[in-house]
Amino acid sequence: MPSIFTKIIKGEIPCYKVAENDDFFAFLDINPNAKGHTLCIPKKEVDKLMDLDEATYMGLMAFSRKVGKAIEQALDCKRVGMTVIGLEVPHVHVHLIPLNNMQDATFQKKVSLTKEEFENIANAIRSKIE
Ligand code: AMP
Repeated sequence: MPSIFTKIIKGEIPCYKVAENDDFFAFLDINPNAKGHTLCIPKKEVDKLMDLDEATYMGLMAFSRKVGKAIEQALDCKRVGMTVIGLEVPHVHVHLIPLNNMQDATFQKKVSLTKEEFENIANAIRSKIE
């Protein structure tokens, strides 16, 4: 069965899209640690980061860097943190989290956003993608 993220890539499940190219896709995390928390994924469905072939791994990092730079420009944060966990969704995803304090990195405290806020954040990040 395809992962929930494959369904998002195919447009079968809605998302707040931030960036896309032939091999990778970025969208806002629906339960964010902080405003602008973004997930970058390979279109190729692989469960674990370390199981990616090297080209996809390197490509994912380059794509995540591009999206991370856009987040830094678009949003008010001290820096963008990068984390890979994957215990919930078995489809490799890089968490890019705008950080202002350590708590933003912990996955303990979540922020709740309206649809309009999600859309505005996605638009702001998208506008800074080079
Ligand atoms: P993990 O697998 O532990 O790295 O976490 C999976 C992440 O995916 C969590 O932060 C969820 O909030 C996020 N997530 C799950 N379903 C969706 C969805 N439909 N749209 C956006 N983010 C999602």
